[in-house]
Amino acid sequence: MLLGQRRILVTGGAGFLGTHLCRRLLDDGHEVLCVDNFSSGTRRNIDVLLGNTRFEVLRHNVTFPLFVEVDEIYNLACPASPVHYQFDPVQTTKTSVSGAINMLGLAKRLKVRILQASTSEVYGDPAVHPQTEDYWGNVNPIGSRSCYDEGKRCAETLFFDYRRQHGLSIKVARIFNTYGPNMRPDDGRVVSNFICQALLGKDITIFGEGLQTRSFCYVTDLIDGLDRIMNSPEDIAGPINIGNPNEYTIRELADKILAITGSKSEIVVRPLPEDDPRQRQPDIALAEKLLGWRPTVELEEGLRYTIAYFETLMREHGKGAAGSMKLQRSAVR
Ligand code: NAD
Ligand code: UDP
Repeated sequence: MLLGQRRILVTGGAGFLGTHLCRRLLDDGHEVLCVDNFSSGTRRNIDVLLGNTRFEVLRHNVTFPLFVEVDEIYNLACPASPVHYQFDPVQTTKTSVSGAINMLGLAKRLKVRILQASTSEVYGDPAVHPQTEDYWGNVNPIGSRSCYDEGKRCAETLFFDYRRQHGLSIKVARIFNTYGPNMRPDDGRVVSNFICQALLGKDITIFGEGLQTRSFCYVTDLIDGLDRIMNSPEDIAGPINIGNPNEYTIRELADKILAITGSKSEIVVRPLPEDDPRQRQPDIALAEKLLGWRPTVELEEGLRYTIAYFETLMREHGKGAAGSMKLQRSAVR
């Protein structure tokens, strides 16, 4: 191994964020072991990395113990889209909780640093706005989003208990809505749904009145934030919010995507899913102070890159071909 080069495990490495992270780590000269069970990730995402001799893939479910030798762990394995995490909610909780126990156990045996990809969902439907890290959240423990929200909350607990009890070096990033290339067209999250609908000339499905808000972070900014947290001094464990503080209503997002694509799609209203948070905006003062991090890509610019990605994907599949249409239909709840 070269000086400064590390062998890094990325669980969930074939997913949307995982692929970008693997690429970034390879670009930085590290060896990467991508562990994924391909439940919501795709082989297409990592195809381009397979030619790199420093990149390895292992099909494995993190709810089972893993015995490998690495210098650092990013724990990203977990479906992130409501459509995917509600498909098999018991497995989602197991992935967050048993997955965290297994990866923390691995980190403890190897005495290596481990980062948890946590989420703004730990704040639930927040009563504090914007959300600061010291806010404990407003989460329904028994609803259809709970498998994800409570699973991620329990994982945070485990991370901090391993730190207190075993002196493990941990980092917890609370990730807010992130978008960009390599999202699946059938991912079901709002940005990919609206873009695919606009490009295919299908109705844009707004859930509820569309007055709920989200703050969208472009993926390269997010990856830079994760890298900074992982490489921060030992005393910084987090949790630290990583997200773009510019807040938009879902209706504003739809209008922007229609304007950029020039699509003639109609906006239609669908029922609001249970426990859908009404507002979400990260307070990123801590990330700015401790990591010198703030996002640099504005929504319109990031949407243009993402739209270009989906246009390419649709050209590959043939626009309007049964494949893309089928994917798109299954994305709409
Ligand atoms: P994604 O669904 O695209 O990727 C998750 C990856 O984990 C997939 O490749 C999937 O196959 C894999 N996976 C799921 N369960 C697994 C298991 N039991 N064993 C092994 N692999 C498994 O999601 P993403 O957007 O890339 O999110 C990555 C991480 O970041 C998740 O932990 C998610 O909770 C967190 N996060 C993402 C966002 C976002 O906006 N993208 C926001 C908050 C938090
Ligand atoms: N949403 C929508 N239409 C869609 C998909 C999502 O109006 O086709 C809404 C959804 O109800 C939520 C917001 O967009 O209010 C963000 O949803 P997403 O699933 O992307 O993420 P999350 O709810 O986890 O923030």
